Amino acid sequence: MEIKFIGTGGAFEPQYFNSAAILNFNNKNFLIDAGFTVYPRLLALNLLFKIDYILITHLHNDHSGSLANILLHKYFYQHGRKFTILYQSEKFKKQLEEFLVIQLKDTAKYVDFAPLEDISGISALDTFGLHSEGFQTYSFIFEEENERLVYSGDLGQTDFLFKHLQTLPACPTTVFHDITFDSQNKGHAHYTMLQPYQSQFKIFGYHCNPTENPQENTIPLVANQPNLIFPG
Ligand SMILES: [Zn+2]
Ligand SMILES: [Zn+2]
Repeated sequence: MEIKFIGTGGAFEPQYFNSAAILNFNNKNFLIDAGFTVYPRLLALNLLFKIDYILITHLHNDHSGSLANILLHKYFYQHGRKFTILYQSEKFKKQLEEFLVIQLKDTAKYVDFAPLEDISGISALDTFGLHSEGFQTYSFIFEEENERLVYSGDLGQTDFLFKHLQTLPACPTTVFHDITFDSQNKGHAHYTMLQPYQSQFKIFGYHCNPTENPQENTIPLVANQPNLIFPG
């Protein structure tokens, strides 16, 4: 499997584009998140029609703000064809439908929904309330033979995800985790909370402003890995 980010910024750092990625997994392309900069990025990179499935970690605007436009673009430019959103729970499917219906009116006309469990090798971890109080969020785990890739979504309490990963069968694991350099920011993982897990997992930080990266931080940033990002 191969992941490439189309943006690595935080909610208020559109200069680095909203955090989102395209994962090639079992020869399919999965778009992970669709924030407000993602639609123009997909067009600029000529990627929109290469996407097979859409996954959404949560409904904050920097992760879902251009979802409706992406769906409409495919419908209008590919003769009524639809994207499939893979939903990780019935309650989240309902939230996605409520979110989209105001913009699309006839949601079923523009998008198909399929349960994530239809695709083998992908699972979601329910991280409700661990990014923002009372707010539904998820992490995603992708597994292939002898390789595991984890996408945290926005997650302030890192122990929950890593404790879960420690219960899984041993397998080389790369974790893409949101990161903050501000110890007052409880919605995202402070780098000092990620560092203790570095001996066990290969970790990369995203969802940040790389110019604020302190010298003491040992977590490499996706923004600094040319092989992990589409060129800006
Ligand atoms: Zn975010
Ligand atoms: Zn968020």
